Amino acid sequence: MKALDRVPKLETAEMAKSWAGLYETTPDHHAVIGFADGVEGLFFVNGFSGHGLMHAPAAGLVAAEAICGRKTSVDISLLSATRFARGRLVEETNVI
Ligand SMILES: Cc1cc2nc3c(=O)[nH]c(=O)nc-3n(C[C@H](O)[C@H](O)[C@H](O)COP(=O)(O)OP(=O)(O)OC[C@H]3O[C@@H](n4cnc5c(N)ncnc54)[C@H](O)[C@@H]3O)c2cc1C
Repeated sequence: MKALDRVPKLETAEMAKSWAGLYETTPDHHAVIGFADGVEGLFFVNGFSGHGLMHAPAAGLVAAEAICGRKTSVDISLLSATRFARGRLVEETNVI
């Protein structure tokens, strides 16, 4: 109601354009980053559960480091895809 008071034209406004985005979510709301178990050369960087834009620079850095066989700047072992099967989920402490 407040918006219509300020911009009465909104009452007859139509949608000009729209888009949809996939909000992909893992069981613990954290990304999967690391080599796939049992599939040589497959590296996961996905499942960001709504944090992907914020995590992109760091995710790109550690992915590049791991793929090039270097020690990663931060420990990514907790983000392994195998954590789900092992029941070792990462606790989400800051949901936005
Ligand atoms: C509504 C909404 C709000 C969000 N808000 C925030 C926010 O405030 N802050 C934040 O940090 N993150 C936010 N996110 C999350 C963030 O957008 C994602 O985590 C991030 O975009 C994931 O990046 P990505 O590269 O992993 O995947 P994507 O950005 O999804 O990129 C995957 C790409 O692969 C393409 N693709 C898929 N299948 C194929 C195929 N078979 N062949 C070729 N290409 C393919 C897709 O077209 C797409 O371009 C939001 C997401 C949504 C949906």
